[in-house]
Amino acid sequence: MQRRARKRPAQTRWGRGHIYKDITGAIGNTPLVQINAMAEAANAHATLLAKLEFMNPLASVKDRIALAMIEAAEAEGRIVPGESVLIEPTSGNTGIALAFVAAVKRYRLIVVAPESMSVERRKMLSHLGAEIQLTPAALGMTGALSQADALAARLPEAVILQQFSNPANPTIHAMTTAEEIWADTDGAVDVVVAGVGTGGTLTGCARVLRPRKQGLQVIAVEPEASSVLSGGSSGSHGLQGIGPGFIPAVLDQSLIDEVLTISNETAYETARQAAKLEGLPIGISSGAALAAGLKIAARPRLRGKTVVVIIPSSAERELSTPLFESTSRIND
Ligand code: PMP
Repeated sequence: MQRRARKRPAQTRWGRGHIYKDITGAIGNTPLVQINAMAEAANAHATLLAKLEFMNPLASVKDRIALAMIEAAEAEGRIVPGESVLIEPTSGNTGIALAFVAAVKRYRLIVVAPESMSVERRKMLSHLGAEIQLTPAALGMTGALSQADALAARLPEAVILQQFSNPANPTIHAMTTAEEIWADTDGAVDVVVAGVGTGGTLTGCARVLRPRKQGLQVIAVEPEASSVLSGGSSGSHGLQGIGPGFIPAVLDQSLIDEVLTISNETAYETARQAAKLEGLPIGISSGAALAAGLKIAARPRLRGKTVVVIIPSSAERELSTPLFESTSRIND
Protein backbone atom coordinates (compact mmCIF):
# COMPACT_ATOMS: atom_id res chain seq x y z
CA MET A 1 0.00 0.00 0.00
CA GLN A 2 1.31 3.34 -0.95
CA ARG A 3 1.88 5.66 1.91
CA ARG A 4 0.80 9.23 1.58
CA ALA A 5 3.75 11.58 1.83
CA ARG A 6 3.57 13.42 5.12
CA LYS A 7 3.71 17.16 4.82
CA ARG A 8 6.78 18.56 6.55
CA PRO A 9 5.82 20.91 9.35
CA ALA A 10 6.81 24.48 8.52
CA GLN A 11 9.18 24.70 11.51
CA THR A 12 11.54 22.09 10.06
CA ARG A 13 12.30 24.21 7.00
CA TRP A 14 15.59 26.01 7.33
CA GLY A 15 16.47 29.18 5.47
CA ARG A 16 14.47 32.34 4.92
CA GLY A 17 12.60 30.96 1.94
CA HIS A 18 13.43 33.74 -0.51
CA ILE A 19 15.89 34.65 -3.20
CA TYR A 20 16.92 38.28 -2.66
CA LYS A 21 18.07 40.45 -5.52
CA ASP A 22 20.93 41.68 -3.37
CA ILE A 23 22.06 41.50 0.27
CA THR A 24 19.93 44.49 1.35
CA GLY A 25 16.82 42.35 0.85
CA ALA A 26 17.92 40.17 3.76
CA ILE A 27 17.66 43.05 6.28
CA GLY A 28 15.05 42.69 9.01
CA ASN A 29 12.69 39.90 10.06
CA THR A 30 15.02 39.11 12.92
CA PRO A 31 13.97 36.39 15.36
CA LEU A 32 12.51 36.74 18.84
CA VAL A 33 14.16 34.21 21.14
CA GLN A 34 13.06 33.37 24.66
CA ILE A 35 15.52 33.89 27.53
CA ASN A 36 15.33 30.81 29.75
CA ALA A 37 18.00 30.02 32.36
CA MET A 38 18.85 33.67 33.03
CA ALA A 39 15.17 34.55 33.46
CA GLU A 40 14.74 31.72 35.92
CA ALA A 41 17.83 32.77 37.88
CA ALA A 42 16.49 36.35 38.01
CA ASN A 43 13.09 35.12 39.32
CA ALA A 44 11.34 36.54 36.29
CA HIS A 45 7.57 36.60 36.42
CA ALA A 46 7.21 37.76 32.82
CA THR A 47 8.25 35.97 29.64
CA LEU A 48 11.44 37.60 28.40
CA LEU A 49 12.07 37.67 24.66
CA ALA A 50 15.24 38.89 22.95
CA LYS A 51 14.96 40.42 19.48
CA LEU A 52 18.21 39.42 17.82
CA GLU A 53 19.25 42.33 15.64
CA PHE A 54 22.68 40.77 15.17
CA MET A 55 20.94 38.42 12.75
CA ASN A 56 20.78 41.22 10.21
CA PRO A 57 23.24 40.66 7.30
CA LEU A 58 26.07 42.81 8.70
CA ALA A 59 25.17 41.83 12.24
CA SER A 60 23.55 44.91 13.77
CA VAL A 61 20.36 46.90 14.18
CA LYS A 62 22.01 49.63 12.07
CA ASP A 63 21.55 47.67 8.83
CA ARG A 64 17.93 48.80 8.86
CA ILE A 65 18.66 52.51 9.12
CA ALA A 66 21.60 52.46 6.70
CA LEU A 67 19.35 51.25 3.88
CA ALA A 68 16.45 53.47 4.98
CA MET A 69 18.53 56.68 5.20
CA ILE A 70 20.14 56.03 1.80
CA GLU A 71 16.81 55.21 0.13
CA ALA A 72 15.15 58.28 1.69
CA ALA A 73 17.95 60.54 0.42
CA GLU A 74 17.65 58.94 -3.04
CA ALA A 75 13.88 59.47 -3.07
CA GLU A 76 14.40 63.13 -2.14
CA GLY A 77 16.91 63.47 -4.99
CA ARG A 78 19.70 64.39 -2.56
CA ILE A 79 22.02 61.57 -3.65
CA VAL A 80 22.67 59.66 -6.85
CA PRO A 81 24.45 56.27 -7.01
CA GLY A 82 27.89 56.47 -8.58
CA GLU A 83 28.04 60.27 -8.11
CA SER A 84 27.36 61.29 -4.52
CA VAL A 85 29.81 60.79 -1.68
CA LEU A 86 28.42 59.70 1.67
CA ILE A 87 30.20 60.95 4.78
CA GLU A 88 29.25 59.73 8.24
CA PRO A 89 30.80 60.51 11.61
CA THR A 90 30.47 57.18 13.45
CA SER A 91 32.70 54.80 15.31
CA GLY A 92 30.14 52.10 15.46
CA ASN A 93 27.84 49.79 13.62
CA THR A 94 26.34 52.55 11.46
CA GLY A 95 29.59 52.84 9.50
CA ILE A 96 29.70 49.13 8.73
CA ALA A 97 26.00 49.10 7.83
CA LEU A 98 26.39 52.10 5.52
CA ALA A 99 29.49 50.47 4.01
CA PHE A 100 27.73 47.34 2.79
CA VAL A 101 24.72 49.26 1.45
CA ALA A 102 27.09 51.77 -0.23
CA ALA A 103 28.98 48.84 -1.80
CA VAL A 104 25.79 47.39 -3.28
CA LYS A 105 24.59 50.78 -4.50
CA ARG A 106 27.99 52.06 -5.69
CA TYR A 107 28.43 55.04 -3.41
CA ARG A 108 31.79 56.27 -2.17
CA LEU A 109 31.63 56.29 1.63
CA ILE A 110 33.95 58.15 3.99
CA VAL A 111 33.61 57.21 7.64
CA VAL A 112 35.04 59.77 10.09
CA ALA A 113 35.78 58.26 13.49
CA PRO A 114 37.93 58.82 16.57
CA GLU A 115 41.23 56.92 16.40
CA SER A 116 40.01 54.88 19.38
CA MET A 117 37.73 52.93 17.01
CA SER A 118 38.42 49.24 17.42
CA VAL A 119 40.70 47.44 14.99
CA GLU A 120 38.01 44.91 13.99
CA ARG A 121 35.70 47.74 12.97
CA ARG A 122 38.40 49.53 10.96
CA LYS A 123 39.29 46.32 9.15
CA MET A 124 35.68 45.51 8.33
CA LEU A 125 35.05 49.04 7.03
CA SER A 126 38.05 48.86 4.68
CA HIS A 127 37.10 45.34 3.68
CA LEU A 128 33.71 46.65 2.55
CA GLY A 129 35.37 49.38 0.52
CA ALA A 130 34.79 52.38 2.81
CA GLU A 131 37.43 55.04 3.38
CA ILE A 132 38.28 55.98 6.96
CA GLN A 133 39.45 59.30 8.36
CA LEU A 134 40.62 59.14 11.95
CA THR A 135 40.34 62.07 14.37
CA PRO A 136 42.14 62.51 17.73
CA ALA A 137 40.78 60.18 20.41
CA ALA A 138 40.91 63.00 22.96
CA LEU A 139 38.29 64.95 20.97
CA GLY A 140 35.85 62.01 21.02
CA MET A 141 32.84 62.04 18.69
CA THR A 142 32.81 65.86 18.71
CA GLY A 143 36.11 65.80 16.83
CA ALA A 144 34.69 63.34 14.29
CA LEU A 145 31.57 65.47 13.83
CA SER A 146 33.47 68.68 13.08
CA GLN A 147 35.91 66.86 10.77
CA ALA A 148 32.95 65.35 8.85
CA ASP A 149 31.44 68.83 8.47
CA ALA A 150 34.73 70.27 7.26
CA LEU A 151 35.14 67.44 4.75
CA ALA A 152 31.56 67.81 3.48
CA ALA A 153 32.13 71.55 2.97
CA ARG A 154 35.11 70.75 0.71
CA LEU A 155 33.34 68.09 -1.39
CA PRO A 156 30.37 69.51 -3.32
CA GLU A 157 28.94 66.06 -4.05
CA ALA A 158 29.05 64.98 -0.38
CA VAL A 159 26.06 64.32 1.88
CA ILE A 160 26.07 63.57 5.61
CA LEU A 161 23.09 61.35 6.42
CA GLN A 162 23.44 62.04 10.16
CA GLN A 163 21.66 59.25 12.00
CA PHE A 164 21.08 61.36 15.16
CA SER A 165 18.75 63.77 13.36
CA ASN A 166 17.57 61.81 10.30
CA PRO A 167 13.81 61.04 10.51
CA ALA A 168 14.30 57.96 8.29
CA ASN A 169 16.00 56.37 11.32
CA PRO A 170 12.97 56.12 13.66
CA THR A 171 10.61 55.70 10.70
CA ILE A 172 12.20 52.45 9.50
CA HIS A 173 11.92 51.05 13.03
CA ALA A 174 8.24 52.03 13.08
CA MET A 175 7.72 50.35 9.70
CA THR A 176 9.72 47.18 10.33
CA THR A 177 11.07 46.52 13.86
CA ALA A 178 7.80 47.46 15.57
CA GLU A 179 5.65 45.54 13.09
CA GLU A 180 7.82 42.44 13.48
CA ILE A 181 7.48 42.57 17.28
CA TRP A 182 3.72 42.99 16.97
CA ALA A 183 3.32 40.15 14.46
CA ASP A 184 5.70 37.71 16.16
CA THR A 185 4.09 38.13 19.59
CA ASP A 186 0.56 38.16 18.13
CA GLY A 187 0.13 41.51 19.83
CA ALA A 188 1.06 40.09 23.23
CA VAL A 189 3.96 42.51 23.82
CA ASP A 190 3.55 44.43 27.11
CA VAL A 191 6.98 45.98 27.64
CA VAL A 192 9.70 47.09 25.19
CA VAL A 193 13.24 47.58 26.49
CA ALA A 194 15.81 49.35 24.30
CA GLY A 195 19.17 51.01 24.82
CA VAL A 196 19.31 54.57 23.53
CA GLY A 197 22.05 55.56 21.13
CA THR A 198 20.31 57.76 18.60
CA GLY A 199 16.99 56.71 20.12
CA GLY A 200 15.77 55.62 16.69
CA THR A 201 14.94 52.05 17.74
CA LEU A 202 13.04 53.09 20.86
CA THR A 203 11.17 55.98 19.20
CA GLY A 204 10.13 53.98 16.13
CA CYS A 205 8.97 50.96 18.12
CA ALA A 206 7.10 53.02 20.71
CA ARG A 207 5.43 55.22 18.10
CA VAL A 208 3.70 52.19 16.54
CA LEU A 209 3.18 49.91 19.53
CA ARG A 210 1.97 52.43 22.13
CA PRO A 211 -1.29 53.38 20.37
CA ARG A 212 -1.95 49.71 19.61
CA LYS A 213 -1.44 48.33 23.10
CA GLN A 214 -3.04 49.87 26.13
CA GLY A 215 -0.66 50.00 29.06
CA LEU A 216 2.46 49.32 26.97
CA GLN A 217 5.59 50.18 28.93
CA VAL A 218 8.59 51.62 27.11
CA ILE A 219 11.88 51.33 28.98
CA ALA A 220 14.97 53.25 27.89
CA VAL A 221 18.41 51.99 28.94
CA GLU A 222 21.46 54.22 29.35
CA PRO A 223 24.93 53.93 30.92
CA GLU A 224 25.19 54.66 34.65
CA ALA A 225 28.27 56.75 33.90
CA SER A 226 26.45 58.90 31.32
CA SER A 227 22.90 59.19 32.58
CA VAL A 228 21.72 62.16 30.53
CA LEU A 229 18.15 60.87 30.04
CA SER A 230 17.83 60.41 33.80
CA GLY A 231 18.89 64.01 34.36
CA GLY A 232 22.51 63.16 35.21
CA SER A 233 25.63 64.34 33.46
CA SER A 234 27.42 62.89 30.46
CA GLY A 235 30.62 60.95 30.98
CA SER A 236 32.87 58.37 29.39
CA HIS A 237 31.66 54.78 29.67
CA GLY A 238 32.21 51.34 28.18
CA LEU A 239 28.79 50.73 26.64
CA GLN A 240 29.55 51.51 23.00
CA GLY A 241 26.48 52.22 20.89
CA ILE A 242 24.42 53.78 23.67
CA GLY A 243 24.81 56.86 25.89
CA PRO A 244 26.02 59.47 23.38
CA GLY A 245 26.12 62.10 26.13
CA PHE A 246 23.39 64.34 24.71
CA ILE A 247 19.69 64.05 23.90
CA PRO A 248 19.44 63.12 20.21
CA ALA A 249 17.01 64.95 17.94
CA VAL A 250 15.32 61.72 16.77
CA LEU A 251 14.57 60.56 20.33
CA ASP A 252 10.99 61.31 21.37
CA GLN A 253 11.33 61.41 25.14
CA SER A 254 7.56 61.67 25.60
CA LEU A 255 7.32 57.99 24.59
CA ILE A 256 9.56 56.80 27.47
CA ASP A 257 7.89 55.48 30.63
CA GLU A 258 11.05 54.76 32.59
CA VAL A 259 14.82 55.04 32.21
CA LEU A 260 17.08 52.39 33.74
CA THR A 261 20.81 53.00 34.15
CA ILE A 262 23.21 50.07 33.89
CA SER A 263 26.89 49.95 34.93
CA ASN A 264 29.72 48.78 32.69
CA GLU A 265 30.33 45.72 34.85
CA THR A 266 26.67 44.66 34.89
CA ALA A 267 26.52 45.00 31.10
CA TYR A 268 29.71 42.98 30.57
CA GLU A 269 28.71 40.29 33.04
CA THR A 270 25.19 39.96 31.63
CA ALA A 271 26.60 39.64 28.09
CA ARG A 272 29.06 36.96 29.28
CA GLN A 273 26.27 35.05 30.97
CA ALA A 274 24.05 35.30 27.88
CA ALA A 275 26.79 33.58 25.86
CA LYS A 276 27.34 30.80 28.38
CA LEU A 277 23.81 30.20 29.65
CA GLU A 278 21.69 31.00 26.59
CA GLY A 279 24.17 30.46 23.74
CA LEU A 280 23.64 34.10 22.75
CA PRO A 281 26.87 35.94 21.81
CA ILE A 282 25.49 39.42 22.46
CA GLY A 283 27.39 42.70 22.50
CA ILE A 284 27.98 45.04 25.44
CA SER A 285 25.04 47.41 24.89
CA SER A 286 22.91 44.30 24.44
CA GLY A 287 24.19 43.11 27.83
CA ALA A 288 22.95 46.40 29.30
CA ALA A 289 19.53 46.04 27.65
CA LEU A 290 19.20 42.42 28.76
CA ALA A 291 20.19 43.33 32.34
CA ALA A 292 17.43 45.94 32.32
CA GLY A 293 14.97 43.43 30.82
CA LEU A 294 15.75 40.90 33.57
CA LYS A 295 15.12 43.54 36.25
CA ILE A 296 11.80 44.50 34.71
CA ALA A 297 10.69 40.89 34.18
CA ALA A 298 11.27 40.19 37.89
CA ARG A 299 8.61 42.71 38.94
CA PRO A 300 5.69 40.77 40.45
CA ARG A 301 3.06 42.94 38.73
CA LEU A 302 4.38 41.73 35.37
CA ARG A 303 3.42 38.11 36.06
CA GLY A 304 2.25 36.52 32.82
CA LYS A 305 3.26 39.54 30.71
CA THR A 306 5.69 39.64 27.80
CA VAL A 307 8.85 41.75 27.82
CA VAL A 308 10.74 42.29 24.54
CA VAL A 309 14.39 43.38 24.74
CA ILE A 310 16.19 44.70 21.67
CA ILE A 311 19.62 43.07 21.20
CA PRO A 312 21.41 45.48 18.82
CA SER A 313 24.64 43.64 18.03
CA SER A 314 26.92 40.70 18.60
CA ALA A 315 29.97 40.06 20.78
CA GLU A 316 32.04 39.39 17.66
CA ARG A 317 32.14 43.11 16.88
CA GLU A 318 33.65 43.70 20.32
CA LEU A 319 36.49 41.18 20.35
CA SER A 320 39.05 43.76 21.48
CA THR A 321 36.96 45.13 24.37
CA PRO A 322 36.90 44.17 28.08
CA LEU A 323 33.93 41.92 27.27
CA PHE A 324 36.50 39.24 26.41
CA GLU A 325 38.87 39.93 29.28
CA SER A 326 37.16 37.69 31.78
CA THR A 327 37.79 33.98 31.73
CA SER A 328 35.19 33.35 34.41
CA ARG A 329 33.07 30.25 33.91
CA ILE A 330 29.50 30.21 35.05
CA ASN A 331 28.15 27.40 37.23
CA ASP A 332 31.50 25.70 37.37
N1 PMP B 1 23.70 49.28 20.69
C1 PMP B 1 24.56 49.31 19.68
C2 PMP B 1 25.72 48.37 19.67
C3 PMP B 1 24.38 50.24 18.66
O1 PMP B 1 25.25 50.28 17.62
C4 PMP B 1 23.27 51.10 18.72
C5 PMP B 1 23.10 52.14 17.67
N2 PMP B 1 23.94 53.28 17.92
C6 PMP B 1 22.40 51.05 19.79
C7 PMP B 1 22.64 50.11 20.76
C8 PMP B 1 21.24 51.99 19.97
O2 PMP B 1 20.32 52.06 18.92
P1 PMP B 1 19.63 53.44 18.54
O3 PMP B 1 20.66 54.29 17.84
O4 PMP B 1 18.51 53.07 17.63
O5 PMP B 1 19.17 54.10 19.79
